[in-house]
Amino acid sequence: MERHGVLVVGGGNAGISLAARLVRDGTPGVTVVAPQPVHRYKPLLNYVGGGQATMADLERPMADVIPGGCAWIRDAVEEVDPVASTVRTRAGRTLLYSTLVLCPGLVEDWEATPGLQAAYHDGWATSTYVPGSTAQVWPSLASLRAGSALFTVPPEPASCGPTALKPLFMACDHWRRNGVLNHLEVRLVLPERSAVGLPAADEVVDRALATYGVEVLREARIERVDPNAHAVTVATPSGRRVLDDVDVAHAVPHYRAPRWIADSGLATDPAPGLADVDPNTLRHRTHPSIWGLGDAAALATRPSGGALRRQVAILAHNLAAERRGAPLQRYDGYTVVPITVGRRSLMLAEFTRERRPAPSVPLIDPIKPRRATWWIDRYALPQVYWRRILRGRV
Ligand SMILES: Cc1cc2nc3c(=O)[nH]c(=O)nc-3n(C[C@H](O)[C@H](O)[C@H](O)COP(=O)(O)OP(=O)(O)OC[C@H]3O[C@@H](n4cnc5c(N)ncnc54)[C@H](O)[C@@H]3O)c2cc1C
Repeated sequence: MERHGVLVVGGGNAGISLAARLVRDGTPGVTVVAPQPVHRYKPLLNYVGGGQATMADLERPMADVIPGGCAWIRDAVEEVDPVASTVRTRAGRTLLYSTLVLCPGLVEDWEATPGLQAAYHDGWATSTYVPGSTAQVWPSLASLRAGSALFTVPPEPASCGPTALKPLFMACDHWRRNGVLNHLEVRLVLPERSAVGLPAADEVVDRALATYGVEVLREARIERVDPNAHAVTVATPSGRRVLDDVDVAHAVPHYRAPRWIADSGLATDPAPGLADVDPNTLRHRTHPSIWGLGDAAALATRPSGGALRRQVAILAHNLAAERRGAPLQRYDGYTVVPITVGRRSLMLAEFTRERRPAPSVPLIDPIKPRRATWWIDRYALPQVYWRRILRGRV
């Protein structure tokens, strides 16, 4: 049996930045288990969907981002035995751990929306959230000159769900500039009453939606899709509504945690099956040598890469504090939601679990849409991500 000190499951934003941080702090025996050959900076997916970036801008070989001094097992975890402190992998390996960190992200729950996956195969439905279809999003939106377009924001749990509005606003801006917005019927399916959940930010989003004449179906979700008829059935508080003849559907699938978390007895509930950690300390509620962070952990806040900047620092601190018997730090649920409300204008909401605004730069209101904030989100943050966040320096 192979022995590992800190076994990190997942090579996404959470896993790589945590592993790098631990190595920098001098933690011995850090190993990342990650099956995929490519690492993606996901926030740029929406800019690919808005015609402002390419897939090559956001992808790097996984081998290039695995931190020096950290082992990489190119395999997927399929089961955890928390009593024996082991994990079993797809290739049949059994790995013994002292500390296990769960951060495998979310997976698409195609079964939640019958017909949607077939619509993706047909190329009629696309979204920035499904990397295999992201490159098709902008060509299909930009070439639309009349008819109807449907956009959705995925219900929680979702990876920074409200950012699914970015392609909508970038497309509306494009359509208006090209004089075709008036020939289009644009609809948005929103899972909650408001987009962000922070009144000042929701006001900005609602104003922008009204400016572009977008019809908003609130507290709604897509129930099923008929890819042949290009029809979408939406459940709303006032009953079912069938939207016929949709020309372009930017329909984001629903999400859940990988099933093996629940099957290993580590989840809050069978579905969505997020890792049952204490949202304050990030430690598993019943198995103290297991921790969790990122999209797959039940942290009672909106998952985001911005949230991870804080989670990684707290988890690295707590792992060291636990070894010394020192008090654990607490995570206040800080998260971010950046939304482009025009082609080159972005509003940034930063808030805590209690929905208290928590701007990281004092005296500047990030919720006010600005060109500078768009530039930071599109151009500066990707550099910070590759050079600092993934190297454990933030
Ligand atoms: C389209 C889109 C736009 C976004 N925009 C923003 C934004 O503008 N700002 C922002 O702050 N956040 C944004 N986010 C959210 C942010 O990208 C995520 O919160 C962040 O990537 C989560 O990191 P993670 O490591 O938890 O999960 P992931 O990034 O999903 O990584 C999980 C990794 O674990 C691996 N894995 C899965 N199963 C296993 C297994 N069984 N064994 C081992 N490894 C496994 C996966 O292959 C994956 O690489 C966006 C997300 C998306 C999808």
